[in-house]
Amino acid sequence: MNVEQQKPNPVAPWYANGLQFKCSQCGNCCTGAPGVVWVTEEEVEQIAKSLDRSVGEVRLFHTRLVHRKLSLTEHTNGDCTFFDQKSRRCTIYDARPLQCRTWPFWNSNLESKAAWDEAAVDCPGMRHGNFVNLQDIENLASQIDV
Ligand code: SF4
Repeated sequence: MNVEQQKPNPVAPWYANGLQFKCSQCGNCCTGAPGVVWVTEEEVEQIAKSLDRSVGEVRLFHTRLVHRKLSLTEHTNGDCTFFDQKSRRCTIYDARPLQCRTWPFWNSNLESKAAWDEAAVDCPGMRHGNFVNLQDIENLASQIDV
């Protein structure tokens, strides 16, 4: 047997064997504790188009500036203003921002196993489903720095 093959790869991240994820659509990540959901002008345009509303209306009622960057707004209880309480669904799912699309494969969650496990406390999807492979994880994580 080749001894070199037995050595652990020193540069392999802790999630090199993949991570489980399958969204259960519980809605936890769209509700609860306050946070920011970064959104670009292009994404605002896509959201407006998907709702057949004007860009100005979406910008006015659904976005705010945080540190000079655009974020989606929340209700006072922390729920995203695009989250439908009754159906517990995202009302702009097909046009949702990249930050939502790439959850939970964010750099902040991938920083360590402890960070991943902490995020998984509120996201049941991170403990279920098929394994997402390393390449796909890194591809998602590279798209936005959160
Ligand atoms: S918290 Fe996780 S499982 Fe629940 S809706 Fe969000 S991504 Fe899906």
